Amino acid sequence: MSNSTEHQANTGQINWLEDAEQGDAPQPLAWRVRTSKRVRNLKIQVFPHGGVEIVAPPRTQPKIIEAFVAEHSDWISKTRSQFAQVRAPEPTLPESIELTALDEAIRIHFAVNSKTGFKETDGLLTIRAPSLHGPDCWPLVQSWLKKRAKQVLPQLCMQTGAAIGLQPKRIHIRLQKTRWGSCSTNGTISLNAALLLRPPEQVHYVLIHELCHLRHMNHSKRYWKLVEKYVPHWQELDKELDKAWQTSPNWLIG
Ligand SMILES: [Zn+2]
Repeated sequence: MSNSTEHQANTGQINWLEDAEQGDAPQPLAWRVRTSKRVRNLKIQVFPHGGVEIVAPPRTQPKIIEAFVAEHSDWISKTRSQFAQVRAPEPTLPESIELTALDEAIRIHFAVNSKTGFKETDGLLTIRAPSLHGPDCWPLVQSWLKKRAKQVLPQLCMQTGAAIGLQPKRIHIRLQKTRWGSCSTNGTISLNAALLLRPPEQVHYVLIHELCHLRHMNHSKRYWKLVEKYVPHWQELDKELDKAWQTSPNWLIG
């Protein structure tokens, strides 16, 4: 929106506004900001689970974002309630998780225990949490996913890189809510553990996308030409990945 501003909206920052629709008992409306070099104007995304994300060009002033959200609060409320009507209630705790990338599924058992933790044996993941309340359990499921991703994604990334002659210096596995991967100028590639929930060809595209940034640190024509060489239908996959957040399970994004 404005290129001359000095503040940068923090990625992953959660902001709160009063939800105007709730009448006497105002429910705070949570929204988070994601910065993207690929958008020119502020954009609002409402997810089926009710989450609200504002996509902003880098260095957009927080107060501009706040004003934008306030201006569109009616639309946000309307869209959220439309989703609430059509969306089937989702169980708070998943019974199993499909690791689509690996063609694996894991069953989950939740046990109430004051000692928190998780353990995986023979396709069964046991989560120990202080209660069966979603927010008490979700971080443990997330930790497990991250651990699992650390076992497979770095190796997969190195193999994919070796095949195209591009090698990252380091690979980090993160669990982010809105980014599948990133590549920094020092040659570090970060990958989202949630990639394990995506089909193999989408994972492959993300790896190629980030590896190609080792050669071109931008989204120039030359960059996309290189990506296209390895993933001719990258545009389709890019769109699918962009939409994938909307169907993320609540244990992942809650
Ligand atoms: Zn990129």
